[in-house]
Amino acid sequence: MNGTTNRKDSGYLSGEAGDQKFKELNDRVRYLENYDTVTGLPNRTLFIAKVSETILQQSSMGRNNAILTVDLDNFKKLNDTYGYLIGDELLRIAAFKLKSCVRENDFVARIGGDEFFVLLAGFDDIELIKKVSERILSVFNDIWKIINHEFYMTATIGIAIIPEGKADVSVIMMNATSALYGAKSKGKNQYQFHEHGINEKLMHMHNMENSLRCAVERDEIVVYYQPQVNAQTRRITGMEALVRWQHPKHGVILPSKFIDLAENTGLIIPIGNRVIELICEQNMKWKNTGYGTFHVAANVSARQLQQTGFVSFIKEVLDKTEMPPSCLEIEITESAIVKSMKTTVYILNKLRELGIKISLDDFGTGYSSLGYLKTLPVDKIKIDRSFVIDIGKNMKTEAIINAIIILAKTMSIDVIAEGVETNEQADFLIMNGCSDIQGFLYSKPIPEGQFTALLSDQKVIFEDDSWFYYQI
Ligand code: C2E
Ligand code: CA
Ligand code: CA
Repeated sequence: MNGTTNRKDSGYLSGEAGDQKFKELNDRVRYLENYDTVTGLPNRTLFIAKVSETILQQSSMGRNNAILTVDLDNFKKLNDTYGYLIGDELLRIAAFKLKSCVRENDFVARIGGDEFFVLLAGFDDIELIKKVSERILSVFNDIWKIINHEFYMTATIGIAIIPEGKADVSVIMMNATSALYGAKSKGKNQYQFHEHGINEKLMHMHNMENSLRCAVERDEIVVYYQPQVNAQTRRITGMEALVRWQHPKHGVILPSKFIDLAENTGLIIPIGNRVIELICEQNMKWKNTGYGTFHVAANVSARQLQQTGFVSFIKEVLDKTEMPPSCLEIEITESAIVKSMKTTVYILNKLRELGIKISLDDFGTGYSSLGYLKTLPVDKIKIDRSFVIDIGKNMKTEAIINAIIILAKTMSIDVIAEGVETNEQADFLIMNGCSDIQGFLYSKPIPEGQFTALLSDQKVIFEDDSWFYYQI
């Protein structure tokens, strides 16, 4: 043996057998690095790797992820009293029960002691976390039988929602643990969210965004119509289209609850475009069933107006529905224009070339409304409700309303007042030359079915000459 080592003699195996043994050892080491030997569940290392990977995958898809930490109440006491064999068995049962409570693509791990972690990956609704937590609490709250012993067990859960984008897994795990302590201090056998309020709110927004994304495809975008009437005859001359989100769970949702979100996410474009399609289709239905033609005003945000191809989109809708362009009105607000005046004016002019009317919404609430009248191609202004509300209460506001009407008339711009709620307000407006009004005095925004009923009533009333003044 001239100094060289015989691998066989020194315990090494050669050839295939050696490779096999090496592979087994390697697998065993891998296993021990990643799994817990008592329960067979993934351990901390694998859990952290899995969570990091999920954050990367799921956040780009805009879905939610959360971490739950589940702790067996009184485990330590039982382990100390009955010994580790029973303790280990309790942990194995706990692992089994936990896995039975979650979905297949969720990830259950044992981090140490009686600390279990669950990754709930890629879900849409916060309700899922609550459901899973309640299921765990109820499955754990039981008499656990081990050999000849019976143990009454419960569990406590801490929950941390994984924020979007970059997130530090160990911080999220700590958040879940601190929520767990919170729940324990309140008396165990319950679950708690980390920073409850904030996370729930975030989740709510996130859930809203996810469902708003599907709202157009699912036909949940509907339009309510608010009549615009001639102040004297109360005859309907047109209407404003106001979007509503017909949510399958929450019912009719007002724009104030989702327009900002739609603006920030760009969803306003498909939603707003859908509104335009719907109102043109509906108006042609009314026309074709003999109710007459009316102008219909759509609210259009800056983002919507400036989308590429907006003008051609409008043209396509008008062509497809055969809606006369002069019946379509686009309502824009001053604040929507301010940011990019030049582009806005360009687009508004293009729309006007098609024959569409432009109406300046919330008139008087901006900083330089009068100045805009000079620059903007505008056919109509809407006196804002904040002025109308002051009628009969504030003489200065009344003087401003009067001045606005006179100015509009001299510029050959139509005027309508919105938010008219009382006869006193209507009378003042009539007296000062504002012939068109819109507001609760006549009708709230209503679904198309109810609007059809209003049109039917009007038809009957106005076909009969003895009815001149009609009021609800
Ligand atoms: P807006 O354009 O100023 O619409 C008028 C709002 O005042 C409507 O609220 C309407 O229901 C309410 N209103 C009408 N008459 C009266 C009244 O006599 N008294 C009172 N107190 N309120 C009255 P709504 O439908 O909740 O819409 C809120 C806002 O959401 C709209 O304000 C508009 O800015 C926006 N919006 C509505 N539909 C759309 C849409 O299709 N696209 C876009 N981008 N925005 C929309
Ligand atoms: Ca409006
Ligand atoms: Ca308005």
